Amino acid sequence: MEAAERARPAAVALEGVGRSYPRRGGGPVAALEGLSLQVGDGEVVGVVGPSGCGKTTLLELVCGLQAPDAGRVEARPAVLMPQRDGLLPWLGALDNAALALRVTGAGREEARAAARPLFATFGLEGFEAARPGALSAGMRQRVAFLRTLLAGKPVLCLDEPFGALDALTRAGMQAWLAEALAREARTVLVVTHDVEEALVLADRVAILSPRPGRVVAELDVDSPHPRRRTDPALGALRERALEALGEAVGT
Ligand code: ADP
Ligand code: MG
Repeated sequence: MEAAERARPAAVALEGVGRSYPRRGGGPVAALEGLSLQVGDGEVVGVVGPSGCGKTTLLELVCGLQAPDAGRVEARPAVLMPQRDGLLPWLGALDNAALALRVTGAGREEARAAARPLFATFGLEGFEAARPGALSAGMRQRVAFLRTLLAGKPVLCLDEPFGALDALTRAGMQAWLAEALAREARTVLVVTHDVEEALVLADRVAILSPRPGRVVAELDVDSPHPRRRTDPALGALRERALEALGEAVGT
């Protein structure tokens, strides 16, 4: 891992990062403490950790939506795909995807023209005018991902992209996202609480401790794509990841 990291310039570097939130009627809540993580240019890193350990906080720091209280956060321009898809219910799928360009000042037709060709690539052809309420959960996630891509940033931060999907849809979407990421060659931080999902998607998996979150283990995933959740080659890594998570939560 270290050799690979040295070979690629870091697109994201966090060093000894701490972040606390004020708590009403009590002392501050430490979300992250002493967290260090580097992500190489073009690398896909999966971040796995228990609920409440600061995963969303970590992505918001990388995207510059918050500042750390301690330590250092350096990142190339990064865009967040938030945990909830955040699609606007009154806009069609094409306009929702194109929103990433509208907010940077593009006109409606220009933004639509940029988004439209991607609809076929993303299996959304024919649904350009459909409102989010008329799309399946998997399609809504694809529109949200498309909107994230169109923001044009070199770093993508995906916050539990499939957290709201049923198991079957989720497995299909993981394969789809792995393919999409292989085409994109962007730097990706993908947060999940699902170890297998991280192993299917990522070049490296960082395991976080419970709150306050810090990286307690990093696992390289060398298996060729496409990967399946059930790949025997991933079995040993899965065990190591679960062990690290178990040790982190003290079981
Ligand atoms: P995760 O995404 O891993 O579930 P979060 O980053 O959302 O974790 O939150 C980490 C901790 O910080 C949690 O205990 C949460 O309650 C707390 N927290 C997160 N955001 C805020 C906030 N805006 N104000 C106060 N506490 C917060
Ligand atoms: Mg979260």
